[in-house]
Amino acid sequence: MSAAWHLTRYPILAKKKILLIDRTFEPRDDRTWCFWSMDSVPDPVPVYRKWEKMEVRVLQERMTGEIRETPYYCVKSAPYSAEMQKALEGSGVEFLEGDVLEIKAGNEKAVVKTSSGDFTAGLVIDTIPPNHKQEGELSLLQHFAGWEIETEEPVFDPSTIRFMDFDIPQKAGATFIYVLPYSENKALIEYTLFSDQLLEKEEYAKGIEDYIRDRYPGQMYKVGRKEFGVIPMAPGIYDQPENAHVIRLGQAAGMPKASTGYTFSRIHWLAAKLARDLSDGKRPDLSNPSRLRYRLYDILLLDIIHNQPDQILPVFYHFFKLNRFEMLLRFLDEKTSFTEDLFIMSTVPFAPFIKAIKDRKNLLLREL
Ligand SMILES: Cc1cc2nc3c(=O)[nH]c(=O)nc-3n(C[C@H](O)[C@H](O)[C@H](O)COP(=O)(O)OP(=O)(O)OC[C@H]3O[C@@H](n4cnc5c(N)ncnc54)[C@H](O)[C@@H]3O)c2cc1C
Repeated sequence: MSAAWHLTRYPILAKKKILLIDRTFEPRDDRTWCFWSMDSVPDPVPVYRKWEKMEVRVLQERMTGEIRETPYYCVKSAPYSAEMQKALEGSGVEFLEGDVLEIKAGNEKAVVKTSSGDFTAGLVIDTIPPNHKQEGELSLLQHFAGWEIETEEPVFDPSTIRFMDFDIPQKAGATFIYVLPYSENKALIEYTLFSDQLLEKEEYAKGIEDYIRDRYPGQMYKVGRKEFGVIPMAPGIYDQPENAHVIRLGQAAGMPKASTGYTFSRIHWLAAKLARDLSDGKRPDLSNPSRLRYRLYDILLLDIIHNQPDQILPVFYHFFKLNRFEMLLRFLDEKTSFTEDLFIMSTVPFAPFIKAIKDRKNLLLREL
């Protein structure tokens, strides 16, 4: 839907027939998407909450800071789908519910075989997510369970997101809690891990329950909506098809940022690029969503998460302690200058990065 929205912005593309196929277009309340760059995010996207302060807890220290320049936005998936559908229907985009069975790329066109019939098109944008675990060096998973809870008393500070709270047991990989406070007594609490194995379902629940008990002792609370997600974190493992009639977009194209899993705003700026390139008559190039230097930083950070787990917390501690949060968010969005990158690098312990450079020499060289 995001890609279709960007296509319809260009008169030359809006004249084409656009068909969207999905198993269902029933808006699903199963995701809370957060991001901090509105670049390329469509106007109809309904922002549910916006925060201008952020908190991080690492090694028993609580760090807080303003993020006015890079506010943290939250969008809920059901109203997003509903609003986007309305906008797309108004632009003449057609919708078809069905299962995509196969996408066959030919010399002149591509054919999409579905449970509701076959469709031929000059361009197919394939956004069917791959299986979770991708094979490849340094391939990790970001997996998380989130509960929206309502407490009896006002315990949350609705002005401040808790971006990462690492002051919890680190048993099965880098583990942290993420808190999105919707009001003084409502919040989304997410138990998140960076590791290569999923946990049993009950372990995510225990992680959230233990956290609520420890941070908000004695609080009675009701659990509302729950969400669960698995996002692949790996350096450049997805390829675009060779054929000019099929393009991959979204998780299917390796768009999650390798070291953070954030994908939402990347999908939008790449969908915007796709539409711009097509309207200019160019073959879109979406093969490397991240610029080279950010891909190299991601490899180093993934190596530390993978192979030097005892260094993760000291690295994050210095990263958040010695830098402005706004600059860090721009860094994670790959929008810093090289001078700012050098400054950030000067604040974190060198040894784990030197070790990662030595250990991942071949992978780093391959990226070059
Ligand atoms: C719970 C959760 C929370 C997340 N939170 C954030 C966040 O806060 N910030 C962020 O940046 N990223 C977040 N992400 C990551 C990322 O933004 C989302 O996963 C995003 O939805 C990826 O978009 P996509 O289009 O690639 O895939 P999807 O949104 O998963 O869309 C794929 C679509 O393909 C359809 N489909 C699949 N197979 C077939 C088939 N065979 N035939 C027909 N249709 C098919 C599905 O029904 C689905 O609608 C989150 C992910 C999850 C799971």
